[in-house]
Amino acid sequence: MLSQGVLVLNRNWTAVHVCSVRRALSLVVQDLARVVDEEYQMHDFDSWRSLSQAVQENGNQYVHTPAFRILVPEVIILSRFGRVPPRAVKFNRRNIYMRDNYTCQYCGNKPVKEHLTIDHILPKSRGGKSSWENIVLACQSCNTRKSDHLPEEIGMKLRRPPKRPHWLATLRYTLRGPERPTWQRFVDAAYWNVALQED
Ligand SMILES: [Zn+2]
Repeated sequence: MLSQGVLVLNRNWTAVHVCSVRRALSLVVQDLARVVDEEYQMHDFDSWRSLSQAVQENGNQYVHTPAFRILVPEVIILSRFGRVPPRAVKFNRRNIYMRDNYTCQYCGNKPVKEHLTIDHILPKSRGGKSSWENIVLACQSCNTRKSDHLPEEIGMKLRRPPKRPHWLATLRYTLRGPERPTWQRFVDAAYWNVALQED
């Protein structure tokens, strides 16, 4: 349970990270972060410990220490200003498939996963790099047709320009189990803010 995810907000209430329960509690103990409860109230460690004693045990998750029990936080907010670098989305096959939604980015078909290939838009043979911006999923027939061409050379068109995905978009694939309902507001807000900036 200590490795479960806790959503981390920065001072502007924007979701910036997910950390373990262990890490979250350690930040709160050090007064570097406060726990945010369901009513958006912020708690330092003493306040959170008191609240943990006061609420009914049923349905809640606790960390037990020899002296007391403490509710598992779901959201914390950092106490200090300071840039928290956004989580980088790992450039790997799983995340490319997820970004492109298991869909051929040329024809829009959704074949079984095994029939999807990774296409370099500017082909490797012509100096194309493996990067978020130069790689898309393609079905076998589109990949064969495209071969060593640029899409525009043979009248193929990408459905959308490929970009590095925002880390929040990969969140639910990273965590075990469902997202916590209390996260949703923060995650939605951050997601849409980022989408606006990118456009
Ligand atoms: Zn295709």
